[in-house]
Amino acid sequence: MEINGKNISIIGAMRSGVAAAKLARKFNAMPFVSDLSSEEKLSQSYQTLTRENIAFEVGGHTEKIYDCDLMIISPAVPSNSEVVSEAVKRKIKVVSELEFASWFCRGKIIAITGTNGKTTTTALLNHTINISGFKCYSGGNIGNAFSEFVLDVKENEFVALEVSSFQLDHIYSFKPAYSVILNITPDHLDRYENNFQNYIDSKMRVCMNQNGKDYFVYNGDDENVSSGQITNTNKFEFSLSNQTSRGSFVADNHFYFSNEDKTEKLFDLDNLSLRGEHNICNALAVLTVSKLIGCRTEKIKEAFKSFPGVEHRLEFVREINGIVFINDSKATNVDSVWYALRSFNQPILLILGGKDKGNDYNRIKDLVFNKVKKIYAIGTSAQKIYEFFKDIVPVEYKQSLGECVEDALKTGTKGGIVLLSPACASFDMFDNFEHRGRVFKESVMGLNL
Ligand code: ADP
Repeated sequence: MEINGKNISIIGAMRSGVAAAKLARKFNAMPFVSDLSSEEKLSQSYQTLTRENIAFEVGGHTEKIYDCDLMIISPAVPSNSEVVSEAVKRKIKVVSELEFASWFCRGKIIAITGTNGKTTTTALLNHTINISGFKCYSGGNIGNAFSEFVLDVKENEFVALEVSSFQLDHIYSFKPAYSVILNITPDHLDRYENNFQNYIDSKMRVCMNQNGKDYFVYNGDDENVSSGQITNTNKFEFSLSNQTSRGSFVADNHFYFSNEDKTEKLFDLDNLSLRGEHNICNALAVLTVSKLIGCRTEKIKEAFKSFPGVEHRLEFVREINGIVFINDSKATNVDSVWYALRSFNQPILLILGGKDKGNDYNRIKDLVFNKVKKIYAIGTSAQKIYEFFKDIVPVEYKQSLGECVEDALKTGTKGGIVLLSPACASFDMFDNFEHRGRVFKESVMGLNL
């Protein structure tokens, strides 16, 4: 779409919205940014937009947002929000920031989506491609907004993008050279009319514009992914359980890669710096894309070894009296807690709770029974957690993370794990999951022996 001289409304004035507005202006459009949050919460954006002389409003949307040729929505704006429905009703073309930025991309896009593991996989892939001697940028839902750096990307360079389903709901021509689906499990159902199929369909859109020259890389072990509408025939899978002939798999504690006529045994799983089976899955996805790009095995191995991990994802915080404190604040759904619990063989004191998104705890019931010694229940979902687990393990209500870690230090035993893996969103008590993770880490660092 030609944007020269067009009025563009941008919903959301956080990083992506501001970057999209700046990008739009570079191409002579007239952006108008609008956000529900207060000036106080958006102080940084407020300053930037004022300085850049970009029109905006905060503290609510006015009618002015519908006076446009195009509406761009930021990643945090749910597809079922009122502003989107109203714009659609008025026949305004609504696109995600992802779609918008992609119009200006000269490089090769690698789009990574899935319910869990997007950030880790995007970061590991970016690290691997760069170590292999190619140039790769990363962004999207993590780090920099796509609009912020898209014009820096040259032909034959790569962009690893973490892509959410909300962003995919509003793509039209977005066409990644590589698309990756890590897994699909129930999450965000509150935003998909409690219909899991709607959520699956949304994720599958990542490959809808691909052709046979592009690659679709997917988790062959995940029935929800394999049952989806895969429109691209150039598929490569990765699997923990099957020896696929097109893609990556694990056998005899080694990573393998197959491309029809040839199967290569690559290197030992122990080379991966990340812990847990779920991270082997993430690494398999990275491996598949890296091999398809042409990265050398030695370089991939080096990258897997040197990857420092990502903050708030099974992050080691401190060991006190032989008790290890782990920050997995990013575990905002039950499935990621399932993986977290499987990553440890030691007895666990588990901190659960926050803002519930329709959680079904049956998925972790057996693991909790076998591995967890006590649950600390926090936040607005504490009572639901208590009711569900009270007959399985002791559950204690706590008002703060500080109270949880103090009690854990007293009750924990040498060799045990204290795990913040809350299965819930953080907004009832914290600004976001990063804030929750930082508070947890500060509380742990503040513990006295
Ligand atoms: P996302 O960006 O998709 O939210 P992250 O890499 O930030 O993914 O990880 C989110 C949470 O999910 C963390 O608690 C992490 O331990 C867990 N996790 C990471 N990879 C996977 C995976 N492949 N399957 C299930 N859980 C995962």
